[in-house]
Amino acid sequence: MVIVMQSNASEAQIEGVIHALEKHGYEAHRSDGKASTVIGAVGVGIDYDHRHLTLLPGVRSVKRISEPFKLASRGFHPDNSVYTIGNVTIGGPEVIMMAGPCAVESREQVDVIAEHVAKAGAKVIRGGAFKPRTSPYSFQGLGEEGLRYLRDAADRNGLIVVSEVMDRTQIPLLCEYSDILQIGARNMQNFTFLKELGKAEKPILLKRGIAATLEELLMSAEYIMSSGNQQVMLCLRGIRTFGTHTRNTLDIAAIPVLHSITHLPVIVDPSHAVGIRDKIPPVARAAVAAGCDGLLIEVHHNPEDALCDGPQALYPETLVKLMGEVRAIATAVGRHFD
Ligand code: PEP
Ligand code: MN
Repeated sequence: MVIVMQSNASEAQIEGVIHALEKHGYEAHRSDGKASTVIGAVGVGIDYDHRHLTLLPGVRSVKRISEPFKLASRGFHPDNSVYTIGNVTIGGPEVIMMAGPCAVESREQVDVIAEHVAKAGAKVIRGGAFKPRTSPYSFQGLGEEGLRYLRDAADRNGLIVVSEVMDRTQIPLLCEYSDILQIGARNMQNFTFLKELGKAEKPILLKRGIAATLEELLMSAEYIMSSGNQQVMLCLRGIRTFGTHTRNTLDIAAIPVLHSITHLPVIVDPSHAVGIRDKIPPVARAAVAAGCDGLLIEVHHNPEDALCDGPQALYPETLVKLMGEVRAIATAVGRHFD
């Protein structure tokens, strides 16, 4: 932390700041400049709320230097985290396509889509069996039955599964059927749930909340990691802004920013970010160009009749075309799709 004192701060006020820092375990390094005194605070004080300092008399500004997340930070783990799940490796040079319906609707629906996405080159099938819907009157998902259909379809097509877990009571069920547990945007800061996920022995795909900063996203990852589960992937799925031209706004710059501050893989979900079928492929291409480690995309063979998010589902043939495009882009930026 760096504390800048006001130019007319008295000696007693400077001493007051130093005393407060030392009391909370910091080492204080004072430097008297012509314009003002600056105090550098070095130490552990991980739980110290720096706003206490801003309230002390004579203080002009307080700036935190170190990140509040540790296990998720690039400083703690300089190499990229790479997870091998079945025959899929996430976080390495290969960019991974995760595709499938928003919701599992029937055995037939997921069978048809699994075959399409596997043929297109996806390695992971997505599909919600438990759906977080804004309205309680909307389709809520098939539950365990849906997970069974998804697992069977994945196994028949050599895919692995990502599916959402909405609360702690569902964790054992999701661990039984899914290879990756998806945590939805709405649950990103459900801290007691995150701690429970820390005890699960499956990789976690943690989605960014609609109004969450990157620091908040990483602090949520830290909850899972500090509870024992180191296999966390981050997912950017759009945030709420003043723009109304798309469902949400994809913060593309967050991809390289996250790569510089964390070792965790970054997956981009352009479907929920954009929400309009024909605008999704260009944004998916941009995400690969910006360095994402994977894409999570909704696909449906009959989106007009989909029970959830039909207007943002790509047709299977659009996924095939997109795969060709992102392959070329990945190569251009030193990555590859298999
Ligand atoms: C989903 O992926 O189906 C989903 C509900 O996503 P989000 O939590 O990002 O809204
Ligand atoms: Mn959806």
